[in-house]
Amino acid sequence: MADQEVSARLIDGAAIAAGIRRRVARQTGILAERHAIVPGLTVVLVGSNPASEIYVRTKLKHAVDHIAALNADPTVDGILVQMPLPSHIEADAVTAAIDPQRDVDGFHPLNTGYLVAGWPTLTPCTPLGCIILLRSALGELAGLNALVLGRSNIVGKPMALLLLRENCTVTIAHSRSRDLPDLCRRADIVVAAIGRPEFVRGAWLKPGATVIDVGINRVERDGKRRVVGDVAFAEALGVAGAITPVPGGVGPMTIACLLENTLHAACLRRGIAVPAAEP
Ligand code: NAP
Repeated sequence: MADQEVSARLIDGAAIAAGIRRRVARQTGILAERHAIVPGLTVVLVGSNPASEIYVRTKLKHAVDHIAALNADPTVDGILVQMPLPSHIEADAVTAAIDPQRDVDGFHPLNTGYLVAGWPTLTPCTPLGCIILLRSALGELAGLNALVLGRSNIVGKPMALLLLRENCTVTIAHSRSRDLPDLCRRADIVVAAIGRPEFVRGAWLKPGATVIDVGINRVERDGKRRVVGDVAFAEALGVAGAITPVPGGVGPMTIACLLENTLHAACLRRGIAVPAAEP
């Protein structure tokens, strides 16, 4: 990277996320003071032991029964099921079992439907974090050409919907898309969420583009383990206008938005307005 000219500004997700966490902490304090409510988040982890067919069926039933119990627990405001689930567990059945009002991941089909309709809802944390980062880098997003690389239900699709809500002109690309470099070159905003290490090359980018790198890829370089994104970061630095680092970009925002969603879920479920954060 020594002779690589750097033009891109780094979008400091870690700092922005820390600000959100501080604000959510203040709002949570106000909620406790005024309403004696402490938002409760529960994370469900499903083990991955190899299993017989009967065991598999039992395991899915246990997972769904466990979620049903959490749905009925008044102290639980947010339920997050750690994905990916072991391959023998039907992720869709588990997701659908979560009370949509406690669905702090925003993956339940009802919340997805609300997002499509443009209604207020619990919004998937990673795309929500990406929008906050984009607003911090660019301010107004209306009219910009946005390319979303990846179409998963948890990142790519909700990301595209949120960009549409921001009045961007949105293109969604995936593994069957043709000529990704050409699609990238037209984009003012590139959100890369494909899970392929350093796949998006610097030369693909429009000069000055804003790049949000969602990818988390564990690779081995020079005998050392490292985490890299979906974008060739060193190359992109010389072309992009602004870019998120990996790590320290999108990852911390996902966690901060999860806390924010939990606060919102606690208020929405009880019909209480989310407390305004006092300065
Ligand atoms: P996923 O479910 O595996 O989806 C990957 C998407 O990328 C699919 O739509 C796939 O297309 C597309 N794709 C794969 N290879 C491609 C290629 N060569 N060219 C174009 N498109 C390609 O992954 P995900 O759950 O969305 O996650 C994506 C990445 O984000 C992963 O690295 C994951 O670890 C990371 N992630 C990070 C956070 C965070 O907090 N930072 C949160 C969630 C995920 P098809 O649909 O055609 O197969």
